[in-house]
Amino acid sequence: MKKIAVLTSGGDAPGMNACIRAAVRFGLSKNMEMYGVMRGYEGLLKGDIFRMFRHSVTDIIQRGGTILKTARSERFFDEEGRKEARDRLAALGIEGLVVIGGDGSFNGAAKLACETDIKVACIPGTIDNDLNYTDYTLGFDTAVNTVLNAVNNIRDTMSSHDRVCIVEVMGRSCGDIALFSAIGGGADAVVTPEKGLDLDALAAQLKQGEKLGKSSNIILLSEGVCSAQSLKEQLAAVTDMTLRTVTLGHVQRGGSPSLRDRLLAARFGVKAIECLIAGKNAAAVGVRNEEIVADDLQKALVYPAADRSELFKVCEILCR
Ligand code: ATP
Repeated sequence: MKKIAVLTSGGDAPGMNACIRAAVRFGLSKNMEMYGVMRGYEGLLKGDIFRMFRHSVTDIIQRGGTILKTARSERFFDEEGRKEARDRLAALGIEGLVVIGGDGSFNGAAKLACETDIKVACIPGTIDNDLNYTDYTLGFDTAVNTVLNAVNNIRDTMSSHDRVCIVEVMGRSCGDIALFSAIGGGADAVVTPEKGLDLDALAAQLKQGEKLGKSSNIILLSEGVCSAQSLKEQLAAVTDMTLRTVTLGHVQRGGSPSLRDRLLAARFGVKAIECLIAGKNAAAVGVRNEEIVADDLQKALVYPAADRSELFKVCEILCR
């Protein structure tokens, strides 16, 4: 293999730029010709591919978002589209593709590798931490730290007014942002897609807190359960507490990556290039027990979900 391209796809995540930098610089150090693809699979289909050099990734390690931009691509869902994407790469003599994205991007990459002669190495880049084969995805740590900063501020004002605040965070099917933020931020309750909403139990917990003299209550809510407004309305029907809502939204996606994410970015980028140079057909790079791993992509996509019972237990006990 002589030429490798890098793209970012799906939702952006802090650390993507640091990862592009690592992949490009490591690839160059191994005498690879490196390329960047703009706007994920959509840019690939349009042939929006350019040569990358050492200086192409200067001064980006600290920046959130992605210099390669990201997009969703309808056409890439079809085999015809993926064939076209393969032809775009083949026309430039590119045989390997590093895909930094979430599970959707991984699915697309798996099909590309299976149906064509392009080899892929996928890097988990999403704040959601919803790829089971890896302990952490790139961007998750930074996103949780952003939530923690917001929770600190919210707590100051809520405790001054004896109020309850529902803080809605990202996570459609994975409650990790809410759960980790609840533990790290000393929240009073957490509601995630994994556990679901038990309205009576939540109301009882808030009342108990009131009896214990708590001056504020913070509830961390994953967007996948319901909106903060909806939970507020449901709680208002069963308690007489003063409720407020904050939806953090896209603020969680931005920001300079944390040290943890920068380290992951560097290690993931290097491992992905190593996989391609070694001739692996379709790899998923991740981290388990602090070790960088490269799994078979198909296996990675069906990895069982991590057991969060201990973390839920810790959270429940400390919330009381
Ligand atoms: P995030 O988790 O941040 O949303 P993601 O990678 O899961 O990131 P998606 O929008 O699901 O984001 O996927 C990104 C792109 O990957 C899609 O626009 C599409 O082009 C491609 N893709 C997703 N799923 C598939 C699939 N099953 N087959 C082929 N391509 C797919």
